Amino acid sequence: MPIYEYDCPKCGRFDVIQKMTSAPLKTHDACGAKVKKALSAGSFVVKGSGGSGAAPACGSAGSSGACSTCPSAKA
Ligand SMILES: [Zn+2]
Repeated sequence: MPIYEYDCPKCGRFDVIQKMTSAPLKTHDACGAKVKKALSAGSFVVKGSGGSGAAPACGSAGSSGACSTCPSAKA
């Protein structure tokens, strides 16, 4: 499920995981303040996972000739 960011005037920015079919939040559940949806390019990025995001996307052809840096080649 995608992660949406909202700006709360009391709490600052926070993330909410919502179904794509869910209506956007109008108020912050935690404090009841009106919130604004923040525009973020990283909606689908899992923050703090560290690592795999930096790996180059090699091949994806599924052949046996995967490059040496390909994570799947080491499995
Ligand atoms: Zn709040």
